[in-house]
Amino acid sequence: MMEVINVVPHGYCQGVIRAIQTAVKTANEHPDEKITMLGMIVHNQYVVRECEKLGIGFVEDPKKTREELLDLIDEGIVIFTAHGISDRVREKAEAKGLTVVDASCPDVIRTHTLVREHVKTGDVIYIGKKNHPESEGTVSLSDRIHLITKAEDMNDLDGLENVLITCQTTLSLNDTAEIISACLKKYPDAKVAEEICSATRMRQEAVMKLKDTDCLIVVGDPRSNNSNQLRAIAFDAGIKEAYLIGSVLDLKEEMVKNKNRIAVTSGSSTPNSLTAQVIDYLRSYAVSGIWHLPDQAEIRLL
Ligand code: SF4
Repeated sequence: MMEVINVVPHGYCQGVIRAIQTAVKTANEHPDEKITMLGMIVHNQYVVRECEKLGIGFVEDPKKTREELLDLIDEGIVIFTAHGISDRVREKAEAKGLTVVDASCPDVIRTHTLVREHVKTGDVIYIGKKNHPESEGTVSLSDRIHLITKAEDMNDLDGLENVLITCQTTLSLNDTAEIISACLKKYPDAKVAEEICSATRMRQEAVMKLKDTDCLIVVGDPRSNNSNQLRAIAFDAGIKEAYLIGSVLDLKEEMVKNKNRIAVTSGSSTPNSLTAQVIDYLRSYAVSGIWHLPDQAEIRLL
């Protein structure tokens, strides 16, 4: 019979729980005010929809920066997301007369503190994703912070002084280690502060430790960087098939049919109810062999 492994840890990290609690508290305390999130509070459409039910609107456009999105908010309360925010956007929001509620993750704020201090005396090479709100927020703290997304980008980074190499919190451990080595080849005296957060690290390490697994199912949103990384890590770990699904509704029988051992995990922004539903469904399929998906995904915000 097919075995279904619940990969531990998975799901919400402390930063996401804190961001959601902040949003819920704001909605409860200000029922008559307009509340808008600057972007998706965390990268999960189910979470965003549940927040909308609480009366929280959001502005989002992957082609627009946080600063451009802020132009769409003219009144009330603005909530900054878990991904962190630049000083420029915060100042602009305050200048517009908006009430600011900051749901930035403490781990992202720690990276901000680190780079802010370093740019007083040197340059920062920041490994991150282009057009991701976390890297956008960090890189826009100073002109001395240089975003690279891959080792080859180092070819264009000449003449830096007193270099610190650091990174986005949700990157792949393996890819980041390779890029850091490339940076050190060019700047051997650089200091390194690898800032992948412990939640991301533990979720990736749990996938790397999986043995004899035919397939990994990652429950997460296509825009969630840490969910995408879990899928990529599965291939690095020698697992031949790995799928990213938003919820049980995206499962297809071909993904799991004739497999002996399937593992299920989820990104840090995925509600645990969605992952539990996938595990329960697959376990019941393993016993019955009947493929009949539920009508809706089970979503509990917290
Ligand atoms: S994944 Fe890490 S950095 Fe991002 S919100 Fe969670 S704890 Fe914070």
